[in-house]
Amino acid sequence: MEINSIKNFFQEKFSATATCYFSPGRINLIGEHIDYNGGCVLPGAIDKGILAAIRPNGAKIVRAWSVDLSDYVEFGLEETDKPEAGWARYIFGVCREMIKRGAKIGGFDTVFSGDVPLGAGLSSSAALESTYAFALNELFQAGIDQKELVLVGQKTEHNYCGVNCGIMDQFASLFGKAGYLIRLDCSTMEYEYTPFDPKGYRLVLLDSVTKHELVGSPYNDRRASCERAALAIAKRHPGVEFLGQATEAWLEEVRAEISEEDYLRALYAIQENVRLRETVEALKRGDYETVGRCMFETHRGMSQLYEVSTEELDFLNQIAADCGVTGSRIMGGGFGGCTLNLVKEERYEAFVETAVRQFRERYGKEPKVYPVVISDGARKIE
Ligand code: ADP
Ligand code: MG
Repeated sequence: MEINSIKNFFQEKFSATATCYFSPGRINLIGEHIDYNGGCVLPGAIDKGILAAIRPNGAKIVRAWSVDLSDYVEFGLEETDKPEAGWARYIFGVCREMIKRGAKIGGFDTVFSGDVPLGAGLSSSAALESTYAFALNELFQAGIDQKELVLVGQKTEHNYCGVNCGIMDQFASLFGKAGYLIRLDCSTMEYEYTPFDPKGYRLVLLDSVTKHELVGSPYNDRRASCERAALAIAKRHPGVEFLGQATEAWLEEVRAEISEEDYLRALYAIQENVRLRETVEALKRGDYETVGRCMFETHRGMSQLYEVSTEELDFLNQIAADCGVTGSRIMGGGFGGCTLNLVKEERYEAFVETAVRQFRERYGKEPKVYPVVISDGARKIE
């Protein structure tokens, strides 16, 4: 939604003018299932996000309109005032988490709208939290630093929305910078901006619009496999705590001592960690062909070693390879969601057209297409 439309909407509902804030969704170029193996991720903010108009109202109540859902909610700021509506809990949670950190958050009137697709893996929820965390910090002069605002968003999900997420999404939404990705260590919040300016290439996500019913707890199973492999390695190489500190050669030494499944999972984790470093080096040189190769290798690893892909995602990945796309991989934890594709401009139209057509012919439904540009993080919009 345009800034003027959101301002007009606010004017209509509250007969006043408001200040506008924006925070983006994010992609992760590479580094999947690696945070719990002591590795880094490489997210970037995108040109899609949540735009909100906000005005303190001098009362102890929040009056909020979701433009996209045509829904209105009022709530107070005490712990017992938690609203029913799912979307409003993100805003309420942010207020509560800021209050817990000593901020004097008062009531406010607000309307917001967004263009991050919901639940597609681009983190619309972090965009929503970060918008309000950033805005309320300014409007109520709370003085909470940017890294703590990341935790405000994360804890909102944990404590008010029932989602046990890490910090990558909120970090990217708040710290994002046009022309850069963020190499981020999720366990320490250490980070470094890595140039990302792929002239002559585009980034596009293809949403497989399929979620697979997960049998058992595949996420925990994979974590456990990695922990067992790391433990076996640590017996010979004291000090190794995570697979991110191990080498493939060390894994080979213990291959006979662990199950074949644990071996495959660990091999992926070790290789993914190396690939992330290779990708960062390639980005510093502006070598997008190497970046693309790493993306394809990540997909192969997630599909064949870590086994978190789906038939639909493998199909989209294969079309990308057939169309001469530079890089393509599953984005996110797997079992559904999108592929992320780095495509030469001259191949873009043909690739997207082919992928949509072939996917429709095979599965009877169209994948959604989301072009993205790496952009700035949370900000006030004049
Ligand atoms: P995602 O992967 O996009 O973060 P989540 O399930 O974590 O998916 O978060 C989606 C939720 O965030 C929605 O169900 C809704 O409550 C809230 N949300 C995100 N964007 C909007 C929006 N534009 N309008 C209203 N609510 C939104
Ligand atoms: Mg989310």
